[in-house]
Amino acid sequence: KSHDHKPKAKRWNHVMTQEATIRKGNSLKEAAKFLGRPGIISLGGGLPSSEYFPFEELSIKVPKIGHFSEAETREFGVVITAGKHDLAENKSNFDIATAFNYGQGSGSAQLLRFMTEHTEMVHDPPYQDWKCTMTVGSTSATDMILRMFMRPGDMILSEEYTFSAFVETARPMGVRVCGVPIDAEGLLPEEMDKILTTWDHVARGARKPHFLYTVPTGQNPTGATQSAERRRALYKVCQKHDIYIMEDEPYYFLQMQPYTGPNAPDVPPPSSHVEFIKSLVPSYLSMDTEGRVIRFDSFSKVIAPGSRVGWITAPEEVVERYSKHADVSTQNPAGMSQLILFKLLDEHWGHAGYLDWLIHIRMEYTKRRDIILSACAKYLPTEVMSWKPPMAGMFHWMNVDFRKHPDYPGKSIEMIEESIFMRVIDHGALVMRGSWFYADAEEEHDTLFFRATYAAAPGEKIDEGIRRLGEAVREEFGLGE
Ligand code: PMP
Ligand code: PLP
Repeated sequence: KSHDHKPKAKRWNHVMTQEATIRKGNSLKEAAKFLGRPGIISLGGGLPSSEYFPFEELSIKVPKIGHFSEAETREFGVVITAGKHDLAENKSNFDIATAFNYGQGSGSAQLLRFMTEHTEMVHDPPYQDWKCTMTVGSTSATDMILRMFMRPGDMILSEEYTFSAFVETARPMGVRVCGVPIDAEGLLPEEMDKILTTWDHVARGARKPHFLYTVPTGQNPTGATQSAERRRALYKVCQKHDIYIMEDEPYYFLQMQPYTGPNAPDVPPPSSHVEFIKSLVPSYLSMDTEGRVIRFDSFSKVIAPGSRVGWITAPEEVVERYSKHADVSTQNPAGMSQLILFKLLDEHWGHAGYLDWLIHIRMEYTKRRDIILSACAKYLPTEVMSWKPPMAGMFHWMNVDFRKHPDYPGKSIEMIEESIFMRVIDHGALVMRGSWFYADAEEEHDTLFFRATYAAAPGEKIDEGIRRLGEAVREEFGLGE
């Protein structure tokens, strides 16, 4: 397919670290390109012979398209099998002998092609030279990308409440996170513009940022989803201040059906793949005419976290540097994982079946989201607690009005948060403290939140957990039933 009519990505070399710029990669892997020569006998790479891989066959039982539940899979799931030499025997494009041996930092061509096609179908990036390369998940990708682009002393923009592992990755690199104010739709473009326009490198102790890290859909921890208009406005601010965007999207396909309230009928599921894709909020990648976005996708939340497989989509220049980095650190994601995913996604489901699976996940999370919201309406004291229905992801973010706490202002926000947190545990439930997600713990905060997930526990446990939370908060604030 021709992308010739599309513009080329802007250059990133001026924001890259010395380390990322000079890294040569793994010279032994370079030699692999000669293996394509017909008839060549390799006495080169130290690849162990597959003769000594103690695996002859791998079988997995997986859902049949359209019958995705655990019970249906147990009963009529399909068993698919990978053999050791399927490639040589013309039975498949991928096999044990290939997948279980050394590979390239970009991942196997077989699975990477599926990811690239999927990315084109869903996001169709509006510039020419985009590419995908595999990651061992977004945690590792974030670590590697920060290392490629940040210098000690730098600041990076993010939501004022942000994914704690991101802050914990950045801090030891000497990188601080500059929290941008948010509302129910996440980052506020005017606030971000103001921060950048008035940036004072002496007062901030850092040069003006070049990067934004954002989780636009079902943000962790706030559950906020940026609307299409919000994204366009933020992209404009990024253009104005030459900010590059790290779009971390593990929850993109956990976009749920519209919330209709406790008593209104449910919205019917998308009737076609086209309608499904149209119902999704457009990604930054899909509006990235300049090539200033690195998008992180991950199978963790839509297939299984233990797969440790994901991919990034970015301009070729970034992808090339990233895969050279992978060559000397993570290498490719585990071949065992890649083979399982290839068998399921490419050979069994195909793109259409995978989209059906994603619609299934959407409907399942919608049910769970509606359970937690109805439990909140039943049990939580609205005199002191408030929330917005999440539209995506796995998190419900609940505000607590600390000003109404009997010990306020004698006790600080964090002391009140601690006291509620412990009391909730005493009542037999666990929720996460909002302060654990501060982008910048040194900044003053005047809000108090708790994060609850509806992803983990079954429906009746979610209901009971929220009941216990409500009981504890009432007790803490001295409220009656
Ligand atoms: N260290 C040495 C000395 C090696 O020879 C090799 C494999 N060529 C490695 C490390 C790479 O090991 P791994 O596959 O566990 O990353
Ligand atoms: N990014 C965000 C915003 C997350 O919430 C999570 C999971 O908790 C991850 C990344 C981790 O993703 P992965 O399992 O792909 O490393």
